[in-house]
Amino acid sequence: MEVIQSFTIDHTQLKPGIYVSREDKGFTTFDLRITEPNKEPAVAPAAMHSLEHLMATWFRNSEVKEDVVYVGPMGCLTGMYLIMTGSYTVQEMRRLTIECLEWILTQTEVPATQPESCGNYLLHDLPMCKWECTRYLNRLQNDFHSEYTKLQITLDDGRIFADA
Ligand SMILES: [Zn+2]
Repeated sequence: MEVIQSFTIDHTQLKPGIYVSREDKGFTTFDLRITEPNKEPAVAPAAMHSLEHLMATWFRNSEVKEDVVYVGPMGCLTGMYLIMTGSYTVQEMRRLTIECLEWILTQTEVPATQPESCGNYLLHDLPMCKWECTRYLNRLQNDFHSEYTKLQITLDDGRIFADA
């Protein structure tokens, strides 16, 4: 099995920010990194679930809605993946994400939290979601990071794997 590209990022050097995780097949995958991996607590599952509903709702109604393919949480709960068609820069995504977070902070309920519309409708936490959004917003505005530090991995057969 090949080591996949996102595992070649040095997660010990990764700061909250927005990164291009990959660009291929006409899609750009953005890494919206909310917390510092393995150093800060990851986003709690209920807060992350609410963030997914809110962020997906905003992006799918935004000026770039035609290009939004997917919005969803990372399994490690330290960030969100946003997949777009076409090419967007991290600065464009930074502006849009700031607008999205500001909108979330004005919300009084999480959309689509009925059993008919959500697979785990009780797993939501809007106050904690807003707490995470406030901190992430502040980081995007004042302490922005967008350059990955790459790991160099040597595969079992000796090949050096620096970039997938
Ligand atoms: Zn849901």
